[in-house]
Amino acid sequence: MKFQSQDKAVSFETDFAGGKIDQLVELGGGDFEILIRPENEPINDSAWYAFRVHATNPRQINVRLRYEGGSHRYAPKISHDRVQWESAEHLIVARHPGGREVTLRLPVSDQVLWVAGQELVGNKDIANWVDTLAQLPFVDSSLAGRSVQDRPIHRIAIGNPDSREVIYALSRQHPPEVTGTIGMMHFIEALCGDTELAKRYREEFLTVAIPIANPDGVAKGYWRSNANGVDLNRDWLKFQEPETRSIRDDLVHLRGDQGKRLWLFLDFHSTYNEVFYTVPKQTKLFPDGFTTEWLKSLNGRMGDSTMLRDDGHNAHRSTSKAWVARELGIHAVTYEFGDETDRERIRKIAFGSAEEMMKILLDRKANLEPTASR
Ligand SMILES: [Zn+2]
Repeated sequence: MKFQSQDKAVSFETDFAGGKIDQLVELGGGDFEILIRPENEPINDSAWYAFRVHATNPRQINVRLRYEGGSHRYAPKISHDRVQWESAEHLIVARHPGGREVTLRLPVSDQVLWVAGQELVGNKDIANWVDTLAQLPFVDSSLAGRSVQDRPIHRIAIGNPDSREVIYALSRQHPPEVTGTIGMMHFIEALCGDTELAKRYREEFLTVAIPIANPDGVAKGYWRSNANGVDLNRDWLKFQEPETRSIRDDLVHLRGDQGKRLWLFLDFHSTYNEVFYTVPKQTKLFPDGFTTEWLKSLNGRMGDSTMLRDDGHNAHRSTSKAWVARELGIHAVTYEFGDETDRERIRKIAFGSAEEMMKILLDRKANLEPTASR
């Protein structure tokens, strides 16, 4: 959408990937109200917004974000180039106690100002990231499939393609969960690193990753769903959507036709803090006790309660982790980063968790194999 104030001095736009506001009303006196609505209801309260604003000459405008079907979750971020983002919390001048409304006082000028719930990390950004990674000799990029609206679902494979041992990672089933994708990118980059540990890991394991599982939802600025209005992380029982089907088929094909042994499944998301959602601890999974050991070493390295664990969250059967644990019998973790966690801290946690994972997996694999003397 494009909107111009009556005096034609202030312009708002959402005609870019991920751009989303639902209605804009000029209240007069330099005040505007933006209505933010979900794609369907009821819905998880992940109220996404992203717009651009500029003015013919410098001025201050008040922009009230008004939510329907949800509330203010994502602290506003601003950017002048869409690349470098900063918090705009200090520009909030009024808040409705229930989170139904938040008013920002924005300094606008002829320089475009981007305003969004999170920094924009969209399909194009990820396609560029995949292309850059694929220049490494041990990274291969392909497509896992296509979305409802025919967008590519990128897939990268890192490490020894002939290895039998496979780790699978996934991100962005839920469009606004940008910090999950940022964490996944740092995690994958750690596996691609130049360290001895990463080199050994890549020799012994193949890592497959789907960086954006819901490209339509990301492009449309949805709160939760794919283009059919379905929460993909509730479709891992019926598999009615092309996105979930493609990923399931990939997992099944790896284990079946390709004869690979799957060790771990990670599904990156965002919530209010860092937490691993797992299936109940007593569930017997391969490799035995892996998640407990991994968490212990991660928290040992980063400090206690860096990463929490909740093994009773979303106990229903239609999430990716539930399906993978049940059908493939391996450790499956919904790996959550906080919405507002400092981005440098996200990098450190992602990197630390990747290193600890590599160490444990190499160790476990060495112990699985018959010793040379036998
Ligand atoms: Zn999520």
